[in-house]
Amino acid sequence: AITPTSKIWMSGEFVDWDDARIHVLNPTLHYGWGVFEGIRAYSTPVGSAVFRLTDHIARLYRSAKIYLMEPTFTPEELVQATKDTIAVNNVEECYIRPLIYLGYGEMGLNPLPSSIEVMIAVWPWGSYLGEDAERNGARATISTWRRNDPNIIPPAAKASGQYLNSSLAKVAAIKAGYDEAIMTSPNGHIADGSGENVFIVSGRQVITPPLSDGPLGGITRASVMQIAADQGYEVREQHIVRTDLYLADEAFFTGTAAEIVPISEVDDRRIGTGRPGPVTREILDIFHQATHGEVDRYKDWNELVS
Ligand code: PMP
Repeated sequence: AITPTSKIWMSGEFVDWDDARIHVLNPTLHYGWGVFEGIRAYSTPVGSAVFRLTDHIARLYRSAKIYLMEPTFTPEELVQATKDTIAVNNVEECYIRPLIYLGYGEMGLNPLPSSIEVMIAVWPWGSYLGEDAERNGARATISTWRRNDPNIIPPAAKASGQYLNSSLAKVAAIKAGYDEAIMTSPNGHIADGSGENVFIVSGRQVITPPLSDGPLGGITRASVMQIAADQGYEVREQHIVRTDLYLADEAFFTGTAAEIVPISEVDDRRIGTGRPGPVTREILDIFHQATHGEVDRYKDWNELVS
């Protein structure tokens, strides 16, 4: 459940948490035409810092561009508004949810006449896949729900309605007794988790699907690719099929909400030893230190709130 904080930023103003409402005839609620981000702030030795905030806001604007939504705020203004929202709510570590959505007043399938609204909320949020999955590994299944195709609903955007696809896969996985779903591209390649990117480790290679197979261009994915390369691994973006996952030495999920979660099983095949592997642990430890401002070479990733 969400733990409420005090204020939510709505198109330029702070509103009390309980008063941050929209009309039931808001078109984004009906048709899913909206774009959003998921971001985290961490405590560091020099205060609260948002992890790669500028990169997240840049992705938000790329998503908005795909959906022809022009916010009346600049990216710099939303970066500042995000920091202000964290400061006003007095939280050091939190999850951050900005959403660009359509205003009330129009209905029908043409979104263009609607006003463009923005909200930013923050709240404390623990590990998304649960402590047990984080420590011992997640049990994943390859979903019969395929990932959105670029000519159906573009997976390059992080759009509200797109998550019907992710949620169908997620709920099917949970009902079948797994922790998480992995979706394939239309041509059968491994594409993405329902809300995380997927990596496999094979010897000294750290491999993740290319963006052309439809994963979201994850900020955690990019960070992990950088960390793995800096640790001397051979980082590759290449097609993965389900048996590559079954036979990998190690596998893991990456994402802002989930952070880095080892995958212990895929479709009831144990991955490696079935325990979080040494490469996953090494990358996970460095990532954890980096988010908390403890790695000099990655200091640029920590954007101080004040
Ligand atoms: N894939 C999907 C489908 C996601 O929703 C997310 C979460 N935004 C990710 C991957 C991971 O992206 P990031 O590391 O930027 O959070």
